[in-house]
Amino acid sequence: MAVTTHTTGAPPLPAHPDPQLDAILGSGLPHELSYALDGPFHLLMPDRFDANAAAFKQALTEAGVEGRVYYAKKANKASAWMDRCALSGTGVDVASAGELRDALGHGVRGENVVITGPAKAEGLLRVAVLQGCLIAVDALDELERVIAQAQATTRPARVLLRRLPPAQPHSRFGLDDQELTSALARCAEAGERIVMEGFSFHLSGYDTRARADLAGELVDLCLKARVLGLHADRISIGGGFAVDYTAAEHWEHFLSEQRPDDYHAGKSFAVSDFYPYHSPVAGPDALRAILTTNDLAGRLREAGVMLLLEPGRALLDRAGCTVFRVQGVKDRPGYGIVTVDGSSLSLSEQWFNSEYLPDPVLLPAHEPQGEPYAACVGGATCLESDMVTWRKVRFPARPAVGDLIVYPNTAGYQMDSNESPFHELPLPPKVVLDTAGGTTRWRFDRHPLA
Ligand SMILES: *Cc1c(COP(=O)(O)O)cnc(C)c1O
Repeated sequence: MAVTTHTTGAPPLPAHPDPQLDAILGSGLPHELSYALDGPFHLLMPDRFDANAAAFKQALTEAGVEGRVYYAKKANKASAWMDRCALSGTGVDVASAGELRDALGHGVRGENVVITGPAKAEGLLRVAVLQGCLIAVDALDELERVIAQAQATTRPARVLLRRLPPAQPHSRFGLDDQELTSALARCAEAGERIVMEGFSFHLSGYDTRARADLAGELVDLCLKARVLGLHADRISIGGGFAVDYTAAEHWEHFLSEQRPDDYHAGKSFAVSDFYPYHSPVAGPDALRAILTTNDLAGRLREAGVMLLLEPGRALLDRAGCTVFRVQGVKDRPGYGIVTVDGSSLSLSEQWFNSEYLPDPVLLPAHEPQGEPYAACVGGATCLESDMVTWRKVRFPARPAVGDLIVYPNTAGYQMDSNESPFHELPLPPKVVLDTAGGTTRWRFDRHPLA
């Protein structure tokens, strides 16, 4: 085994320190769970979800703005978040009948659900109207179907009209100016079948100014809609509150230093395809920035318009991690290949032509020995492309069979967007860490025998 040549590798990119997570990782619990479950698993920390939701609400309160937070459910399927939303009155943003069933089944009230997504299925619209959910209408034909459901169920349909962002004219979502004019007229004409509560958008990217600008435009639209006799007292600015995974210095150093030689097989990624793992303004601070831009908070108050937001990733910040077990280690010139007991389908970034960059942490089964060791991480499948990490990560020692590799902060989008029982490998279960009463106890997110 050639040891001394394995010490280079990609520039380090550690996640922000997290003493609570370190305590859990140091407690022996991950090794115990890995033994019991005999495969990879995800750890969930719902207390963090609660704290994140509370921090967003706090930012609204500080700005004197009435608002509502809706968790964008597609970011992670766990039921733990639904339980927490139900209890705290946090709303949920869903886009399918399955997501709506899950939210309602865990006790989230229909009135606290917003339905987004394009051309929503008939069954979804029916349940949404019956349960009094708020429906973000994406197209004129969809508006007709919503009115028909209201007619059929004799329940008024609560709607927002989703705006095609003028700054993202190629978006496939939303209504353009002309369509908005038609939709407003149609809502007015539909009378009691429709309660037109306002407007919405969802922008890609994380620009706070773009969100503030468009929000200001939607406030004006509310005022225009009221002239037509419509309710129009709220706007939704969607999601896209950045998560800050790592410190600025690490991120800048990584971006300037990383090169194809830092990756297995000379793989290269377009830097523009990397998630911006460092954001100076993130989460609730991004909301604060939006609210202060052009005094959006003041305009909302003055117009009597409520602010709805739909964060996904940001509510899950530091609320989970993913644990694999090392199944094999082999040497290549200058680095090693670690194979773990799962696949990159449980760490979704690979499937967007990108890589999840916060450094995985080695949890050795025994006292680690020897020199630092750079290695990429492969999945236990027969595909060349199934690399959990292409980058040659600088581990403190050569990983050994039975060690664990922990990917930090994976709850937002990484865990289950692309999960698949490919190769008949089991889906990694989600293990919830409950900390009520000062002790940390674990349970399954969904009971395997239920
Ligand atoms: C995906 C999505 C969100 C959540 O986006 P994040 O970047 O996770 O905050 C919110 N609203 C809509 C309409 C979405 O499609």
